[in-house]
Amino acid sequence: MTQEVGKKVALVTGASSGIGEATARLFAQHGHALALVDQDEAGGTKLAGELTAAGTECAFYSCDVADERAVTDTIQRIIARFGRIDAAFNNAGIEGETAETGACTTANWDRVMNINLRGLWLCMREELKHMVTEDTGGAIVNCASVAGLVGLAGIPAYVAAKHGVVGLTKAAALEYAARNIRINAICPGAIETPMLERFMATSPDGRQQMIATEPMGRIGRPEEIAEAVLWLCSAGASFTTGHALAVDGGWTAK
Ligand code: NAP
Repeated sequence: MTQEVGKKVALVTGASSGIGEATARLFAQHGHALALVDQDEAGGTKLAGELTAAGTECAFYSCDVADERAVTDTIQRIIARFGRIDAAFNNAGIEGETAETGACTTANWDRVMNINLRGLWLCMREELKHMVTEDTGGAIVNCASVAGLVGLAGIPAYVAAKHGVVGLTKAAALEYAARNIRINAICPGAIETPMLERFMATSPDGRQQMIATEPMGRIGRPEEIAEAVLWLCSAGASFTTGHALAVDGGWTAK
């Protein structure tokens, strides 16, 4: 079975939770068919069931984005099922352990890099192989972070990986600009998700400390990132590529 003619197909990684889940829901509201990718099978299956029941053409794929073979296989299955990928949000990521650079373990460094940078690149590589064959091109949004724009103490591997995502996005955007494939990065500030909950729990009064640094005096909502991703994938962003868009309530404007 292939997708309904004219319906756009969106792929979201890390779709079972947080920012990815909110973005999948928004794509669905805007009539996209959806390929949901995540390692959390229970969450992804539940979301796919809910969206399908609400009338969205939707399928969940259990996949570790750090596993090259699994990524290649998953994207092939998505193409076999939906026929194309018009928009991809490469969002799956982890925060890793909190420890300054001199105390960062090799295991933590490798895990964060493997998922947040190498895994994102693997997904993008496979998406691009298919997008280049489409007359209509495509749009890719890579999830970086404000930690891809400025330094943050205590999470060196995360900061390095997210700066890598921004650099990779710019390089790929230039490579594919003339082939009608736009590639941008989104750089969320602090967003209310299970990941941020875990991160804030690493210090006493973590939430209060976080809010104290926020120009708007609040943490962002996943839906506020989803809106920006939807726009970056839309025709409204037709001249926007290679951009790293901070959606951070003004945090990096300080
Ligand atoms: P989240 O709620 O933890 O959701 C992340 C999802 O990605 C989870 O379902 C997780 O599954 C999945 N995932 C993790 N590793 C994976 C892997 N190797 N393969 C496939 N799926 C994997 O986190 P979030 O806050 O929404 O974060 C989404 C993205 O936004 C991340 O790239 C993060 O770095 C970025 N970001 C978040 C914030 C923030 O404040 N929340 C700020 C800036 C950037 P499990 O639950 O099983 O691990």
